[in-house]
Amino acid sequence: MNAFDTRLISREVVAEGTLAFHFKKPDGFSFKPGQAIDLVLRLPESEGEVARHAFSLVSAPHEDDLVVATRMRDSLYKKTLASLAQGDAVRIEGPFGSLLLHSDRARPAVFIAGGIGITPFMSMLRQAAFENQSRDLSLLYSNRRPEDAAFLDELQELATRNRGIKVIATMTDITRSKRRWDGPTGAINEGLVASVVTRDVNPVYYLVGPPGLVEALRDMLSRVGIGDDDIRSEEFYGY
Ligand SMILES: Cc1cc2nc3c(=O)[nH]c(=O)nc-3n(C[C@H](O)[C@H](O)[C@H](O)COP(=O)(O)OP(=O)(O)OC[C@H]3O[C@@H](n4cnc5c(N)ncnc54)[C@H](O)[C@@H]3O)c2cc1C
Repeated sequence: MNAFDTRLISREVVAEGTLAFHFKKPDGFSFKPGQAIDLVLRLPESEGEVARHAFSLVSAPHEDDLVVATRMRDSLYKKTLASLAQGDAVRIEGPFGSLLLHSDRARPAVFIAGGIGITPFMSMLRQAAFENQSRDLSLLYSNRRPEDAAFLDELQELATRNRGIKVIATMTDITRSKRRWDGPTGAINEGLVASVVTRDVNPVYYLVGPPGLVEALRDMLSRVGIGDDDIRSEEFYGY
């Protein structure tokens, strides 16, 4: 895998307990929306020991920075990530991954994201909007509360500005939210899926999130007759 040295430019809060990290895009680095990188960090108080985690790129290829987003946790890796200062050096390896948007633009895509599983879809949706692509891209996005839903405002804006992009967010634990929410609640189910599938052409389904969620979604799609050939998925371990 290709390795590149880069630096942290900035960070921002994109949901409660969730940060996006912007890195300088190294010369010669190119990727496709949906791909991931390994972010390799030098662990503190160790003699050169490093740790790596995979992160899907949130940024689209046309953007200047490379951006990843993650739920901050108590793991040594995440603590090291949180302690990075602006300008600190890191290594990235990649890109890798085959969760790429299918090339037949006549076939709609249905993206289903659980929580931070939104990241690869951000890159795909940003790129589609940037290129003014006329293809049907629907997103079903599940979170516990609106507070937890990274990039929700941007997604709603993308849907408003682009005819082909549909976004439906649902909250599974809305009673614990302090924010007003007028949208759907409860888990992603057959009804929500049916609400975005409007044409006769079979969509390709993309599932991303923690392994348990991806498995449950795959079972749900299989119950309504969607075969494995029409499903692509990526599991984010560690949640
Ligand atoms: C292709 C890909 C893209 C990803 N993109 C993102 C992203 O955009 N944002 C994001 O937040 N996370 C992403 N992840 C998950 C990410 O790499 C971390 O695993 C996650 O953030 C948890 O890290 P942690 O330090 O909080 O937990 P950790 O302490 O690393 O892990 C917690 C638990 O999960 C187990 N675990 C960790 N990794 C694996 C593994 N690969 N296989 C099996 N068990 C494992 C550990 O053994 C431990 O029990 C991605 C993973 C993959 C494979």
